[in-house]
Amino acid sequence: MNNKGCVFLESGINFDLNTVCDCCISHSDGRGLPVLIENYHGEMIDWESLFEKKQQRINNQKQKTIYECEGCYHLNNYEFKNIKKISEFHFSHCRVCNANCIYCSDEYSKGDVNYNTYPVIKDLIDKNMYLPGGEATFQGGEPTLMKNFDELVQLLTQNGTLARIHTSAIRYSNTVAQALKENKASIVISLDSGTEETYKKIKQVNMFHKVLENIKNYESNAQNINDIIIKYIIIPGINDNIKEIDNFFKLINELKIKTIAVDIEVQYARKYNNKDVSPHIYLIYDYFEKTALKYNINLLTYSFLSYVLNNRQTNKTFLINNKFLFVWYLNANNDRTKNINYIR
Ligand code: SF4
Ligand code: SF4
Repeated sequence: MNNKGCVFLESGINFDLNTVCDCCISHSDGRGLPVLIENYHGEMIDWESLFEKKQQRINNQKQKTIYECEGCYHLNNYEFKNIKKISEFHFSHCRVCNANCIYCSDEYSKGDVNYNTYPVIKDLIDKNMYLPGGEATFQGGEPTLMKNFDELVQLLTQNGTLARIHTSAIRYSNTVAQALKENKASIVISLDSGTEETYKKIKQVNMFHKVLENIKNYESNAQNINDIIIKYIIIPGINDNIKEIDNFFKLINELKIKTIAVDIEVQYARKYNNKDVSPHIYLIYDYFEKTALKYNINLLTYSFLSYVLNNRQTNKTFLINNKFLFVWYLNANNDRTKNINYIR
């Protein structure tokens, strides 16, 4: 008997490029997602048969942790409640975007998949198979360009789901602003820079001032300023220098933002076979930590940590496997729950 599980196995749904899955956590050695429906592009769902599949998977999981979930950090002691309702949503299918980040793959920045999930979620609610109190993560691509994005955010937040939106903030959404006002959403905006010049180099669009204006507007609406998280993805040779980081902090301070996230873009690192990842990455991280303290800004780092952990297993470089630096990093990273919340 195995008592490990997670809420996504029981009550999660992830809309992906060509599939519906329990979650979007493709983790440890690319095991792949727990798929529920293959070859999916926005069709209405037979909920009874979906819950049957979920139940079969749960039964297998109760015997022994299933292959897709082995090693996942979401696995915990979990009591399955047999509720046959969905409370946790991931919208990961949208492949259209209004930026062109140098660390992104063409599939995401230049794709065209954008099927409509609004009628599907409406049907779930109408059939009484929706459970309020969970979270909906919108990611992409640029999720604000998803078909019926605003209607979907409204539908879920008005029914009691918290929305987490990863956006470029190039498009401003009044619905998101309203949800921030009502404490029903949080947003993550990847700015990656403190200057227009660097923003342009990274995002490859001329939208720096527009994004700053949109952040200010979101900020003026947000009931809780910590619901706006600005992200800085470290990119070797472009923004991994003290001057840019100083400019970033000045900007963040002027914008009155209180939470930032430092990250390494895994796709970018993979694209360059990990070899261009800055050798002074720990020092950069250290600088971020000290400067965040100086400005009294919360620093989230969980993605950075998982990157280091993954690379310790697959990429035997001296620095990443340097025990002293690694232990020091782990000690510095003391707010695990907050960081897990952030990547969900
Ligand atoms: S344990 Fe991990 S991989 Fe498995 S369903 Fe939960 S979140 Fe997904
Ligand atoms: S905003 Fe996201 S999806 Fe768009 S180009 Fe950048 S990384 Fe890719």
